[in-house]
Amino acid sequence: MKYISTRGQSPAKTFTEILLGGLAPDGGLYLPEQYPQVSRAELDAWRDLSYADLAFAVLSKFATDIPADDLKAILDKTYTAEVYSNGRADSDFSQITPLRKLDNNVYLLELSNGPTLAFKDMAMQLLGNLFEYALDKQHQELNILGATSGDTGSAAEYAMRGKRGIRVFMLSPNGKMSAFQRAQMYSLQDPNIYNIAINGMFDDAQDMVKAVSNDHAYKAAHKIGTVNSINWGRVSAQIVYYFKGYFAATKSNDEEVAFSVPSGNFGNICAGHIARMMGLPIGQLILATNENDVLDEFFRTGIYRPRGTAHTYETSSPSMDISKASNFERFVYDLVGRDGAKVREFWKKVDAGAAPDEAAFDIKHTDYWNALPKFGFASGKSTHLDRLKTIRELWEEYGVMVDTHTADGLKVGLEQRRPGLPLICLETALPAKFAETIREALGRESERPESMVGIEDLPQRVEVMDADVATLKAFISANV
Ligand SMILES: *Cc1c(COP(=O)(O)O)cnc(C)c1O
Repeated sequence: MKYISTRGQSPAKTFTEILLGGLAPDGGLYLPEQYPQVSRAELDAWRDLSYADLAFAVLSKFATDIPADDLKAILDKTYTAEVYSNGRADSDFSQITPLRKLDNNVYLLELSNGPTLAFKDMAMQLLGNLFEYALDKQHQELNILGATSGDTGSAAEYAMRGKRGIRVFMLSPNGKMSAFQRAQMYSLQDPNIYNIAINGMFDDAQDMVKAVSNDHAYKAAHKIGTVNSINWGRVSAQIVYYFKGYFAATKSNDEEVAFSVPSGNFGNICAGHIARMMGLPIGQLILATNENDVLDEFFRTGIYRPRGTAHTYETSSPSMDISKASNFERFVYDLVGRDGAKVREFWKKVDAGAAPDEAAFDIKHTDYWNALPKFGFASGKSTHLDRLKTIRELWEEYGVMVDTHTADGLKVGLEQRRPGLPLICLETALPAKFAETIREALGRESERPESMVGIEDLPQRVEVMDADVATLKAFISANV
């Protein structure tokens, strides 16, 4: 299996060749040359597999240059009940992603029982083990540099802690995260994890990361890399739980289901799209946005209109506060019949940054619009008030507490699903991470897994730094 770029002008590479990198040299994103197909016989054979075995069955089709025994060992080590047992007290951790029945035909797929209580652990934990394996083979080291306002940074740190050959330098805005988020990250004492609290906002931290990454000589000399959401390894790991959720919600492979997915950078739902292209019987992929509705607008109108960071709202589902969706290009490549020239044309304007009310591209009066329905998408939008209402209803009707992002997915999923289809809502975080909104919705504290009780009292290890690139570079140089 080789990987090609969505912009059609980069040489084909193997899974391990693209694992540690980001964008393709032509600025595109990597995708398989063609999607591997899953036969009916395979689906039947996969139905009762454990999570780790199912992950092996799926990822064997993508990571074809990793010897089977090695891949199996990596997946067995990644998807264990110990790693994924930080979530709801009454969940069956042996399932890794247990399916919770809410109603006859409505389910919650628990993806948030990993170390940082968000679905990003599902892929990031695997990435940590794959990176360690690949770096070991190449006798290489990697220094991961990133900026975070919460979920991604902590998932990356918990995935990379203690890993040979890897250091993490994670910038966060000093004093801007919740006490819980700070405790989660800063209490890590592993010597290969460096938390740096920047005196400034998230954007200042992000700009510092960009400045270091644009200094190509420094970047190469210090082996600087990233783990952002366009990484193919992350997307491929997320395909697995669509299969797992499907098997758990159905009795036979003749049935179809709908998935609803709280979306930001389009990484999670892109994995669902690929599972569907592989042959998983997904009747509907329901994309939910918050007030930052750039993707909902596209699926309703055919207009893609990224807003720019100055026109992005801060909401109570902050992990979906995006101005443009970095993985969306992967789907558009399929939509335009895998025409790299067309993607280059569309993204010329996306990359240049159109004015906030200007479309980067519009497919309404093209054949692409007519082709869109066959990809099975529906979409909708949810606001702060919707979130509060959904959280309240779930709590009152089922005694289930959901976080703000999952609430967006539930609201839109229930609105958009085709009658008769079982609806599987992806749970992308646990409520403990967003305690303030839970308090507003329910007037009570959020449930917190036992492993997280009192983490605010643990000793913290963090370097406070002014938003100065030279200081950051000196700090990295002194520690690698
Ligand atoms: C990252 C994140 C999302 C958005 O996922 P994408 O893959 O970017 O679409 C949704 N909810 C939570 C809690 C997240 O952390």
